[in-house]
Formats: sequence, structure tokens, C-alpha cells
Amino acid sequence: MSRKMLIDGEKEGDQQQFDYDLFVIGAGSGGVRASRTSAGFGAKVAICELPFHPISSELIGGVGGTCVIRGCVPKKILVYGATFRGEFEDARNFGWELAEQIDFNWKKLLHNKTQEITRLNGIYKRLLSNSGVTMIEGEGKLVDAHRVEVTQPDGSKKQYSAKHILIATGSRAQRVSIPGQELAITSDEALSLDELPKRVVILGGGYIAVEFASIWRGMGANVDVFYRKELPLRGFDDEMRAVVAKNLEGRGINLHPGTSLAELIKMEDGIRVLTDHGGEFMADVVLFATGRIPNTKRLSLEAVGVEVDKTGAIKVDEYSCTNVPSIWAVGDVTNRMNLTPVALMEGTCFSKTVFGGQPSKPDYKHIPCAVFSIPPMSVVGLSEQQALEEGKGDVLVFTSSFNPMKNTISGRQEKTVMKLVVDAETDEVLGASMCGPDAAEIMQGIAVALRCGATKAHFDSTVGIHPSAAEEFVTMRTLTRRVTAGVKPKINL
Ligand code: NDP
Repeated sequence: MSRKMLIDGEKEGDQQQFDYDLFVIGAGSGGVRASRTSAGFGAKVAICELPFHPISSELIGGVGGTCVIRGCVPKKILVYGATFRGEFEDARNFGWELAEQIDFNWKKLLHNKTQEITRLNGIYKRLLSNSGVTMIEGEGKLVDAHRVEVTQPDGSKKQYSAKHILIATGSRAQRVSIPGQELAITSDEALSLDELPKRVVILGGGYIAVEFASIWRGMGANVDVFYRKELPLRGFDDEMRAVVAKNLEGRGINLHPGTSLAELIKMEDGIRVLTDHGGEFMADVVLFATGRIPNTKRLSLEAVGVEVDKTGAIKVDEYSCTNVPSIWAVGDVTNRMNLTPVALMEGTCFSKTVFGGQPSKPDYKHIPCAVFSIPPMSVVGLSEQQALEEGKGDVLVFTSSFNPMKNTISGRQEKTVMKLVVDAETDEVLGASMCGPDAAEIMQGIAVALRCGATKAHFDSTVGIHPSAAEEFVTMRTLTRRVTAGVKPKINL
């Protein structure tokens, strides 16, 4: 692509020379994807990112971003580690004679996890350089609509000009303002603790809260989770939220619904935790899992007039363009749907629109997701409540709650639950959810079916894979209930 490009609104012949066609601030999932695909379309691209460290701050980050360094990847590694506890318990009835004392070496797992994310950080850097993208280490901020200033780790500053600027700086954990809040950690530190805690208190009932509850409980800690609502995982299907809560308790996690934390006090033998209900607990670690906020504070957005919403998220149109035509934003920093694959989609659409000659809007319909609790929950499409709220008319609900085959021998008392929400008039499957082993692996395929507009009849006519849990999705013949908007359904768990 020619470096001689027109600034938006400029006339032919009035061209400006830029250092780059695209300058990207932030080399996480969205930024890396947008850089590589834009370079693939022939654009001259540079990307800046903070130096690597497992725990982020305003001055450290790393190529790969939250997902790779202090999010999805290290979390999943710890979930794998924690899952062995249940596997060891289940193994006995399958004939495995395990010694009474089974030791867990946290430091070894942590070392291997850090090695893996360091390896991935290197791979991401190589992916960028192999695509012809220039990597610049340092903190980027806007100077004007076409210029970025990068402060390098040694403090030196350099400015770069670009026809387009893409902001992909992600988000960071938000802390709750209570006395003693500095004693609590966030998910960043939780993924890099030197010692495995014996007593854990978690505040929050979202993804991170239930995932870390499962991780620490699986590794043998005593875990108490406090959240404001009746059930964890607000926004998911109510019935499935209840299943997750039941499973967490079944695995020995103490849940405290309708309760928040009031104060943290440092004691000689740990942290004294006071709740807003007058409860008192002792903990080695207190985790705030209370949501994330967009990383926009240090970008000098106000200097250029880029608009943000009340959460600090950058406002963008359907093509990810801000109110300044040369400045774009993708991923968590825009607070649309804060998931890695969504940032990848937004990054790809940006490149196609700006450099590929194919204007492309990200499509947020039927995006599957998973909560990696143990066992996991995964969903795609609408929950029963959303289907009713969206005025889809009457909704048919099919559920299956069964003892997974493995549990018949292991003796584990934990049901797998599956659910289909179907439009009563058109027979279209509006949503599917599952809580049980391999839920995420199964739901990815169901998501393809839903994107193709599958009806319940399509599910019914699909031949199952036997014996598997997944086959239940194509053998749910009996209607559990028919629900009508405005009438609260009776759910028996
Ligand atoms: P979530 O938004 O999922 O949950 C935040 C939780 O914190 C809610 O239970 C909320 O309660 C609670 N909360 C917020 N403020 C307060 C407060 N002041 N006092 C008490 N409780 C509070 O955020 P997470 O931090 O768990 O995760 C951040 C995001 O990261 C997720 O939304 C998701 O987008 C992404 N993520 C995705 C994962 C995956 O795909 N598997 C894994 C981990 C994270 P209430 O419901 O009452 O508002």
C-alpha cells in the first residue's frame, strides 16, 4: 500500500506523508489480530506494547495481552491443575489404588505456567515480526488525530504518525472501595501467588469469582465466595446459574449469596474479613473479582476529543470507528462483549473495513462462551429469560438433567444439565446451555448449528454419538415447559 495517503476530508493532491498506514496501541488479542490482518492487506503497520510481566500495571503488560499472560491461558492451566483432585477421587471406584497422601506442588505448577506464558509471549512477537509489523516497546498515547507518542522503558519519548490509529489497550481489574481494600488481590496476582493459600475469601459472583473458587478448592483450599445477588453469574440463564451454585457447593465451596464485604483488617495470622451482615472470616488471600474497567485513563483521549462512555470505555460505531474518523478501537477497551474471540472478530473486521476494501461489521449474534468452573458451564444464544424479554412469543423449554455415565461408577453426586430454548412458533433453537464435563467442547459445535438457524426438528433428526453426554442434545423429546412472556415459570431443580 502506498505511503502517500489522503487524510480523511483532504482533497486529492493535498496528500500527507505518514510513518505508517496503521499504528496500533496495545498488543493483546484484538491489537495483534488487527495488525497482522492489516499487514496482510499490504498496510505498513507498527504496534506498541508495554514490557512483559505476569502482573500488569500502568507500566508493564506484554505482547499477548490479558488473555495470554494473565487471563484465559494461565487460568485454564490452573483449572487443569485443579481438576485432578476430583479425578483422583473418581479414580478409586475405577480400580485405581491411590496412596492416602497425595501431594500437590503449587510452585511446580506456577513455574510451568510462567514458562508457558513466556513461550507464548515469544510466539506472539514472532507472529508480528513474520507479518512485517514493527514492534515498539513502550507506552503509547495520542498526540493528535494522526500521531502517537511512545514513552520507552528508558523514559525516552518518540512520536510516530499514521493514517489510522487503532486503540486496543484492553481492561484491568477493578477494586472495591472498602477499608483495608489494599490487602486484597485481583486476578493478576491470583495467577502468580508465591504460596498456595489455605483459606480464601472471594468477593464477586462473576466469571472470575467462580473460576478461581473452583481452582483454589480443587487445590485443597477452604473457599468462601460472597456475592450480592441470590445466585452467581448474573446475565446467564437463571436455571443454569442455580446448577452452577449447586455444583460449587457440592465440591465443598462455601457460598454466601446476598452478602458483600465491609472491611479487611491485617492480622498476624492472616486477613480478618468483615461482611456487611456482621459475619467474620479469616483468610490468607482475599480476591476482588468485581469486574474490569477499560484501560483509557493514560491515552490522552481528551487531547484529541475521542469520546468515552461513563465507564471510561471508548465509544465506537458499528465498524469500531470512534468519533474521530482516523481513530478506531477494538476489544475490551470498547466494553462491548469482553471476550478474546470477540476482540479477534472486531480486529479482523477493522482490517477488512479499513485496508481490505470490504466494510465489515462484527456480528454479535450467537457468540458462545464458557465459564471454566469445575465442572464448566457453556452457553450460546438466548437464555430463557432473554428469549421472553426479547418478545419472541411463547418459548418451549427442553431440559435434561442426568447422571453422567462416569459418575455411575465413581459415585460422584453431580448431575449434568442441558437446556434448549426454542421459539414455539418457528421451532428455531434460540439458545442452548450446558453445565457438566466438556461443556465448552460440546457447545462450540452447537454454536455452529445455531448460527445456521437450526430448528428443534434439526436437533431431533440428528443422530447421536453413543455413549456420550453430547447425544442428550439430540434426544430431548419431552417438553419440560412452555413459557409465556410475563408469566414467571416454575422451575424444579
Ligand atoms: P463479571 O462482570 O463477570 O462479574 C463481576 C462480579 O462482581 C459480579 O458478581 C458483580 O456483582 C460483582 N461486583 C461488582 N462490583 C461490586 C461491588 N462494588 N461490590 C460487590 N460485588 C461487586 O466480572 P469478572 O471480574 O468476573 O470478569 C471480568 C470479565 O472478564 C467478564 O465479564 C468477562 O467478560 C471476562 N472473563 C471471561 C472469562 C471466560 O470467558 N471464561 C473468564 C474470566 C473473565 P453483581 O452481579 O451484583 O453486579
